[in-house]
Amino acid sequence: MLSFSHALLKRHEVRAPSYTSYPGLDQFKQAFGPRHYAQALEHRRQSVLTRLKPLAVYVHLPFCENLCFFCNRFKIVTKRYSKTLAYLELIEQELKLQIEHLGHKPKVSQLHLSGGTPTYLHTAELERLVTMLKSYTTFTPEVEMSLDVDPRTVNQDTLGALRDMGFGRLNFFVQDCDAGVQRAVHRLQDFDAIHALFEQSRLLGFESCGLELLYGLPKQTQKSFAATLARVVALSAERVILTPYRHQPETFAPQRKIKEQDLPSSHWTMECFNTALTTLLKAGYDYIGLDLFAKKSDPLSLAKRQGRLHRNFLGFSAQPNTDLMGLGMSGIGAIGSTYSQNATTLEEYSMFLERKQLPVVKGLMLTRDDLIRKSVIMGLMCQGHLSYESIELAYFIDFPSYFAQELQQLQHLEEEGLVQLTAKSLDVTELGSVLVRSIASVFDRYWTAAHSSHL
Ligand code: SF4
Repeated sequence: MLSFSHALLKRHEVRAPSYTSYPGLDQFKQAFGPRHYAQALEHRRQSVLTRLKPLAVYVHLPFCENLCFFCNRFKIVTKRYSKTLAYLELIEQELKLQIEHLGHKPKVSQLHLSGGTPTYLHTAELERLVTMLKSYTTFTPEVEMSLDVDPRTVNQDTLGALRDMGFGRLNFFVQDCDAGVQRAVHRLQDFDAIHALFEQSRLLGFESCGLELLYGLPKQTQKSFAATLARVVALSAERVILTPYRHQPETFAPQRKIKEQDLPSSHWTMECFNTALTTLLKAGYDYIGLDLFAKKSDPLSLAKRQGRLHRNFLGFSAQPNTDLMGLGMSGIGAIGSTYSQNATTLEEYSMFLERKQLPVVKGLMLTRDDLIRKSVIMGLMCQGHLSYESIELAYFIDFPSYFAQELQQLQHLEEEGLVQLTAKSLDVTELGSVLVRSIASVFDRYWTAAHSSHL
């Protein structure tokens, strides 16, 4: 059974990025704007190879009814429900602009709605959104449609309507089942209601019901978290995301409402992850990586075993790697070798669209070095294995010379039992899989430059 010592975790506690992209969001530049994003879309049109490949689409729906104190997302907390219709019109304007630059009706193989709270929208509004997306694009027959669900905002009828729209994957944001913790973070939800939603979702034929938990929340104790985990195991969710809460009140205003004295110690937080890891593995889950666990029958587990796992802004994916079109306020996109992010406030997002401009406020054009390092980092994150030859053939480099410094740094990690190095390959050990972002960060030029004293 996989387990690790506090001393080891402590040595690696400066958390490297989670690498949903390389380079990370913190490297996006404001010099990249609407013109560059338009060029990336037009470039996709010119290349027959990429043009025929389906896209993934991400839509950001920012509205929420209530504020959770741990929130670190781009959201709008309001009970003025009338705002949503105008927002959908903005999404349509943005989609139309993007399609004009793409120059054709693209195929879509993956759709994910997040926020905010996607299910803040009424069923009819969500139907309107899906119909709109289908009128500008062509959904492939096997399209994977998923969304994040706040259990407090849905009932059996909503679930039925979502299933009829074609959604197959639900990700319930549960966070914690203990009433004391829920009060401390201002997110009260009844576990029996969540249990009923899971049962109804299964009866309705959803392929997958996942859930997300946060650990390190105020008022969490070993006992309360163990009880939450026991309830989660009883729900038998297909996927469990176990995210550490990061208290950054200077950056995220809602977190200022959390009392520091109610937060568990970092030692407790590590212990908590250890407990969760043991509990979930014992319950038959596979550890996919970082914060994600999946049942052995889940496509992510199969993809991991078969070396087909990918990672992008939507997290781990069993779908073939593809470009991502982001829509909505703060939406993130990855087209060709570019990344982009939309305006993060509703005011700015609308202003761009009033001027008939793509609402992109920052992004990045990846350099050749970025692309090489991205391949290495994603290989480690997804496969836990790297054949030097595969990178040499793809990029015409001599791996040991190009990464001489990095290979030297990895020797420390080999001594700690996190990796195994040979003359031809690098493997992440079972122990290293828990600290894979630390291992991958050795190849992150930007991270290394900013944290060289730590290495
Ligand atoms: S955590 Fe989610 S539901 Fe809560 S305020 Fe933030 S975006 Fe809204």
